[in-house]
Amino acid sequence: MDYHLQCISCGATYHKEEIRYVCDKCHDLLDVNINYAKSFSKIALPGIWKYRGLLPIDDESKIVSLQEGNTPSYECKNLAKELHIADSHVYVKNEGANPTGSFKDRGMTLGVTKALEYGAKKVGCASTGNTSASMAAYCAKAGIEATVFIPSGKIAFGKLAQALVYGASVYEVDGSFDDAMRTVEDMCKDSSKMYLLNSMNPFRLEGQKTIGFEIAEQIGAVDKVIVPVGNAANIAAIWKGFVEFKRYHMVKKLPQMIGVQAEGASPVAKFWQTGKFVPEEHPETIASAIRIGNPVNWKKTVRALKESGGKIFSVTDKEILEAQSLLASREGIFVEPASAASIAGLQKLVKSGEISKGEKVVCVTTGNGLKDPNAVVDQFKGKIKKASELKL
Ligand SMILES: [Zn+2]
Repeated sequence: MDYHLQCISCGATYHKEEIRYVCDKCHDLLDVNINYAKSFSKIALPGIWKYRGLLPIDDESKIVSLQEGNTPSYECKNLAKELHIADSHVYVKNEGANPTGSFKDRGMTLGVTKALEYGAKKVGCASTGNTSASMAAYCAKAGIEATVFIPSGKIAFGKLAQALVYGASVYEVDGSFDDAMRTVEDMCKDSSKMYLLNSMNPFRLEGQKTIGFEIAEQIGAVDKVIVPVGNAANIAAIWKGFVEFKRYHMVKKLPQMIGVQAEGASPVAKFWQTGKFVPEEHPETIASAIRIGNPVNWKKTVRALKESGGKIFSVTDKEILEAQSLLASREGIFVEPASAASIAGLQKLVKSGEISKGEKVVCVTTGNGLKDPNAVVDQFKGKIKKASELKL
């Protein structure tokens, strides 16, 4: 496929054969710029690879897939009624239904395939949990070594269990996710030793853009897409997906992209208000998957928000936990706290009168609730009664 890498800031371009994560000149992020063919049609390959015509790889024989993607989009009528917007259409795109239980699988199938194309034997990432679980699974399938750096004592138990059982080497870093990120970046400076698979790697976003493709195919044109924002890659990726589908007339109009951060880890939401980006030194939220103080992809997210006429704001941990229970108890969908930020964000938009009659709104829930059950168990401790107390 014909594509190249281009710096989002100075516009420098780089040939696809060279491994590069950021711009040589200004160290800013890179986009994968595809030289689009005249037409696009889906093909019979597993997982997200049915969109092969829009995915930047060269060697189909190297594809590593666990049949990711094709996750359900549910129309949530009970939730809409509960929020008093029964005359609008609320959907949940449940990414927890991916093979390792989060949206990261879409980026990892592409990232690990790319690692094989580049001949890497070893790949690495820093992770709040979901990235490491996903990378470890795809590396197991590919037969290459996975090295994971986690913030010490700060990742959800279920996710750590996944990384370990898939066979990754796991290293703890004292400090936050951002410290783990700096460590892995350092390790991957020589890409012949370790190939970096954090979302700074522009190919990860190319896999994740398929969420946009699927929403367009499953629901059609929608008005708003609400996405939890941690490292700030996913919302930018989904936007790219919609833009590409519009180019091929696969969707009639583009949605507004709405980002939601947790209040204790909300540097992008603050940037949106103040115009100044200041990394959060001690990010704190119950939503561990978005507990990130210095989001690598924040500039790509801001660009997507501006292009789509969207915005970004934050919600409290209390709002997140309430939204998590609401979605589970009304719709039977159990998502992890970070995912519930999108539902809490919808509630906020409803309160401020920003959801109009007839609108189609999609909340992307990024990870399965079983990955991080502690918050729920703590919350519901007093709810378990003695069987002897039950009188019918
Ligand atoms: Zn540059």
